[in-house]
Amino acid sequence: MNSKPFPLYENDDGKVNIAVINESSGCYYGKCNFCTHPNITGKYQTRDINITIQEIKETMDAAGIGLFRFAGSTTPVSLSNRIADALLTEGLPIEYSMFVRAETRAKDRMAELIEGYEKVIRSGLKAVFLGAEAANNDILSKIMDKGNCVEDVYFTVKALKQASYNQRKHLDVGLSFIYPCPIPHNSGITHEQVMDENLHLLRKLKMENYKPDSVLITPGAPLPATAWQMEPERFGFDLPENYFQTVLRYEYELTKDPSTWPALDISLQGISFLDMLKMSGLMEKKIRELGYTVNVSDEHCLAARSAGFTGQRGLEEFKTRSDLALLTTDYSFLKDVYQKINVYSHSLTEKCFS
Ligand code: SF4
Repeated sequence: MNSKPFPLYENDDGKVNIAVINESSGCYYGKCNFCTHPNITGKYQTRDINITIQEIKETMDAAGIGLFRFAGSTTPVSLSNRIADALLTEGLPIEYSMFVRAETRAKDRMAELIEGYEKVIRSGLKAVFLGAEAANNDILSKIMDKGNCVEDVYFTVKALKQASYNQRKHLDVGLSFIYPCPIPHNSGITHEQVMDENLHLLRKLKMENYKPDSVLITPGAPLPATAWQMEPERFGFDLPENYFQTVLRYEYELTKDPSTWPALDISLQGISFLDMLKMSGLMEKKIRELGYTVNVSDEHCLAARSAGFTGQRGLEEFKTRSDLALLTTDYSFLKDVYQKINVYSHSLTEKCFS
């Protein structure tokens, strides 16, 4: 990836000025049974940091863009630290978001993680997305092959939030769950239990003042070329013969209530696809009742904050009004927001090149 040319950006092309930057490609872990990233990106690669910094500089200078999203499926703290060092040394005042992964042995490494995240936050990190998947260790190991445990998720969120408190800079943390998800055979674990465990983790983080800023919930899906799709019986999925054609032709609208989506001939351990969507919706409702914002991703957090939406109420307003604009096709709110983001993105580059 070091030899790839930099992208060419057109000025005033009507797009949102948040540039994707290829600091790495794929995932250094790459083994999760449900994840399609390794199939899309292939072998994990990191890019020479000097080239990443050069592309950031050129994007700032030529396109007037100061907001970035790292493209890696999971940027390890060791890499983000080295990039942060370079950004701070060069004095590049960018703001950015990225995917992270719950760090293994996070509890024992808290001091090291907090110190690392503090530096990354100082260098402009504003939002992260982290996959918790399920707050149940049997599911994480036997179903997900996630390579980390619930304790790692808890302490990684804590470290991220503590680092942001120490730096007195807000960091949006998005935590995602897969619900309902497959359950290990003969384990006695129930879907209700998994939901309770997920809610327990969220309640605990909130009580201890380490509340994530957004929680994302998606039902388990056997995505093409993942273990869940290639070994459906092992994970309890029942898929139609023409599975690929079925999912390729499936039409749904993300902004609409999933209960209005058309039925799909897929089931999980006897639960129909529409019932899976309902279970997901129920968990979403319960998470809202706990006082959480739901389904705002890291790049949407970055966009909302850049457009001046602050606090939890701001994030909620941004989400509600964006969804409403898409549903009603009255795009005036989105156009206004895009302009604000672009002005903000440009203002970051002016700090550098004025
Ligand atoms: S889910 Fe995340 S950690 Fe697991 S393989 Fe995919 S990108 Fe990597």
